[in-house]
Amino acid sequence: MTSNDRVVVIGSGLAGVRLARRLGELGTPVTLVGEEEHRPYNRVLLAEVLAGRYSPEVIALPAPAELTRARVTGIDRAGRTVVCADGAVIAYDRLVLATGSNPVLPPLRGLFTEDHELPEGVHAFRTLDDCLGLAKAVRPGVRAVVIGGGLLGVSAARALAVRGAQVVLAQQSERLMERQLDPAASELVARHLTDLGVEVHTECRVRDVRCVGGAVRSVEMADGYALDADLVVLACGVHPRAGLAQAAGLDVRKGVVVDDELRTSDPYIHAIGDCVQHAGTVYGLATPALEQADALAALLAGDTGSRYTGTRSLTRLTLTGPDSPFDLAAFGETEALPGDDVVQLTDHTRGTYRKVVVRDDRLVGGVLVGELGTVGALARAWEGAEPLPSDGGPLLHLLTNDGGS
Ligand SMILES: Cc1cc2nc3c(=O)[nH]c(=O)nc-3n(C[C@H](O)[C@H](O)[C@H](O)COP(=O)(O)OP(=O)(O)OC[C@H]3O[C@@H](n4cnc5c(N)ncnc54)[C@H](O)[C@@H]3O)c2cc1C
Repeated sequence: MTSNDRVVVIGSGLAGVRLARRLGELGTPVTLVGEEEHRPYNRVLLAEVLAGRYSPEVIALPAPAELTRARVTGIDRAGRTVVCADGAVIAYDRLVLATGSNPVLPPLRGLFTEDHELPEGVHAFRTLDDCLGLAKAVRPGVRAVVIGGGLLGVSAARALAVRGAQVVLAQQSERLMERQLDPAASELVARHLTDLGVEVHTECRVRDVRCVGGAVRSVEMADGYALDADLVVLACGVHPRAGLAQAAGLDVRKGVVVDDELRTSDPYIHAIGDCVQHAGTVYGLATPALEQADALAALLAGDTGSRYTGTRSLTRLTLTGPDSPFDLAAFGETEALPGDDVVQLTDHTRGTYRKVVVRDDRLVGGVLVGELGTVGALARAWEGAEPLPSDGGPLLHLLTNDGGS
């Protein structure tokens, strides 16, 4: 890249904004193109907006001054231009895809109207517009069904309950947040939601969305049981938004395939954030998106040695209720394999739970609920993947000493 090269970034979410800001600081001008009406914002905090804890202004990102509001609809790789929905054509020397994820829309009967829209009262939970739509519809006593019991569904259920809705959380698998948590921690999350008044149903598959006059009235379970609903939130996961890349003929598998230089199969096009598949992994999390943006900014600004080699990212969730906040953090493998060492501390009175899993003298995972004092020390031991001292004591020490974090 030369200093006159035009860098165009598609997507003004966490990754795109971070990249544009870093490049601005490094003296490389950028054209950032984003389709959303709002000022760029931190999506991770949307549940707090829904819960009424933050206003949309509070979650705004410190965005670079120059932002083009447009939806990119095509990439002409030979001509090195992108075309926008309004017909504008933008030329690039380096293009960066930071297009994020789309919500997964589950295959439910009745989910779409004849115009292929979601019925009134049915909302995804991905954008600030989704969040504002939900916030407008939620009132004390409203009957809400949240479909999906992962991180997103748990956050949405808690936020709606805090706003006074009567919430049912329908989770298809046998426990909540099963991707991140072990069964004991899942149980504590379920108990926390139940204490907030949420009805948690696991092993519960929603089959049908029933509407009258284009508005949702109920959802029906696979066993035929029907639940009245004024509001339905779809929290069934996300998938990389890779349509533009695919249409342009780039290598796309689960996400847009990139190498350690965050380069796609076209050397003039890079990709970062949720839309990316790096070394077989699609993260769908904020920390990898930010780390990829930083690595690419350095690279595009002339640090030819900059590489992205993967992120060992922990999941953190704070569920603020009317009483005390409920914090949890989980990383790596939270369930032991035969032969692993496990240390577990449970305090039923305080509702805390801490567990680490060690394999061949290395910390391979852990989960902390309610008591996160040791999270910094544990994360460092896990990220460093250094062998733990072998005198037997350190495991318990890791769980009980906050290590200055
Ligand atoms: C409610 C919620 C809670 C979450 N909580 C957590 C959490 O606790 N921890 C965590 O690590 N992660 C969490 N996440 C995930 C996290 O928000 C994402 O990993 C992160 O936002 C990824 O950043 P990104 O820039 O890649 O994508 P996004 O933030 O999705 O930004 C992509 C942007 O690109 C725009 N765009 C896409 N295509 C085009 C186009 N063709 N033209 C113009 N613009 C386009 C989109 O409109 C969007 O604004 C949460 C997500 C949600 C929705």
